[in-house]
Amino acid sequence: MSNSRELCFRGLQKTSVIDFPGKVACVLFTGGCNFRCPFCHNASLVNRTAPEISWDGVWNFLRRRKNVLQGVVISGGEPTLVPFLADFLAKVKDMGLATKLDTNGYAPGVLEELLTENLLDFVAVDIKNSPSRYGESCGMDLVDLNSISRSVELLKTSGVDYELRTTVSAELHTLEDIREMAEFLQGGKRYALQPLNPGATLSGRSFTPPDEELLKQMAEVLEESFEQVLVRK
Ligand code: SF4
Repeated sequence: MSNSRELCFRGLQKTSVIDFPGKVACVLFTGGCNFRCPFCHNASLVNRTAPEISWDGVWNFLRRRKNVLQGVVISGGEPTLVPFLADFLAKVKDMGLATKLDTNGYAPGVLEELLTENLLDFVAVDIKNSPSRYGESCGMDLVDLNSISRSVELLKTSGVDYELRTTVSAELHTLEDIREMAEFLQGGKRYALQPLNPGATLSGRSFTPPDEELLKQMAEVLEESFEQVLVRK
């Protein structure tokens, strides 16, 4: 899937206190994605219909706000697809701001390069589901699970702060899926479960959040292998 026409970001959230743990941050969104998760709420980013914003606009904003912000989150779409990512992160770090990447973990080569260059301070990887339901959950007939496990292993050994997380829906996730997922991931530092927000989706299908009791049981399964498990609202 070509990504060469991505010349800039396609969205900017000026301030967030929830997207970068412990930091006041802005969030920049890239266009394009190598997955087609049926429950995705970011169709205009994935399909690149959200308008690109200008580089001057992004840098003017960051220069104006660098004393208020502590970090910059790069989200999407899927940020590892865009050609300007490493250069952008390097410049953000030169400004003295911390960087966080939100990714689906499907480009371990890009992740490795960014980690090696010390361009990331925090990484969040979306884990879509158990191995047996990964394709269904990311909208792909064939999915290379080695890419996901390689990204997770890179983070576990990187020394960089990270979080694995899953958006849980009643239609796609059972307790058994979470058990299989925990086995596949083989533990780690921090896991966050977030119930899906109902709303318009990329596939046009409707998805609903799981009930609270099930979410609690899912968290208990993950607590057996992860140091910290969070359930977000
Ligand atoms: S939810 Fe899936 S399709 Fe949507 S941006 Fe994330 S990885 Fe891509």
